[in-house]
Amino acid sequence: RGPGMLAVIVRRYGEGMKLVLSQDITERERADSMRRDFVANVSHEIRTPLTVLAGFIETMSSLPLSPAERERVLGLMDQQAQRMQTLVSDLLTLAQLEGSPRPAPDRWLSLDALLARIAAEARALSAGRHRIAVQEDTQVELAGIEAELHSAVANLLSNAVRYTPDGGEIDLAWRWLPDGGGELSVSDTGPGIAREHLPRLSERFYRVDGSRSRETGGTGLGLSIVKHVVQRHGGELQIQSEPGQGSCFKLVLPAARARPSGEAALGAEA
Ligand code: ADP
Repeated sequence: RGPGMLAVIVRRYGEGMKLVLSQDITERERADSMRRDFVANVSHEIRTPLTVLAGFIETMSSLPLSPAERERVLGLMDQQAQRMQTLVSDLLTLAQLEGSPRPAPDRWLSLDALLARIAAEARALSAGRHRIAVQEDTQVELAGIEAELHSAVANLLSNAVRYTPDGGEIDLAWRWLPDGGGELSVSDTGPGIAREHLPRLSERFYRVDGSRSRETGGTGLGLSIVKHVVQRHGGELQIQSEPGQGSCFKLVLPAARARPSGEAALGAEA
């Protein structure tokens, strides 16, 4: 394949084929270029904490440190190691989501149980710095893969906590949609996002503010994971945001039903 092959086929089959093939090659070039960018991004993201770690190891082995200084340097080294662990774990999650077929939802999950569990995690992360309001008793059941849905909603809440300044509000709510299914929204009173960034937010490693993302432990892969999960559940991720007006991330989920009356809630395990 390549420009040579294109010329041969064009001569043999005429203009119609030229169009088809040039499109095909452009697609391949785009895919190759995306793969190259991805590898470059991953290498960069791994190299940065490694360089910092190497620097600390050098410091510890060449300078006499007091016990307090030693403690501090070990703490900083631990942060870098954790950053790499989170990155590798997000990369594995993404690879699994991209490489496996869309799952058949095996059971109906209780949204209330899922939200209660995620709210507890978000409150622990916020440590009292935000007011986190979670709609209770929705009586909604979702058809899906519990671990994936948990990861999607947890990523949105973790973003809301990480980007919203102290004293801000974060809301988690469910709304039925007229044409079936419903949407789970995570809204915050954070800084908001300028319109030009919105279409690219769920691209791998796309960040509006790289330093804020890294400082708070972000990998730049969270929204990419969320988008894959929701698409695998037949839905979509919608983002509404304006600078100064906060942000609202919505998971539109078509496979939802009201809990049949009289039935006990099916567990999303705590
Ligand atoms: P990250 O690990 O950087 O948070 P994400 O994929 O989760 O990666 O998000 C991509 C970018 O979108 C973030 O770097 C940040 O700039 C922006 N973003 C995500 N959520 C919010 C939010 N709730 N408020 C403001 N900006 C956000």
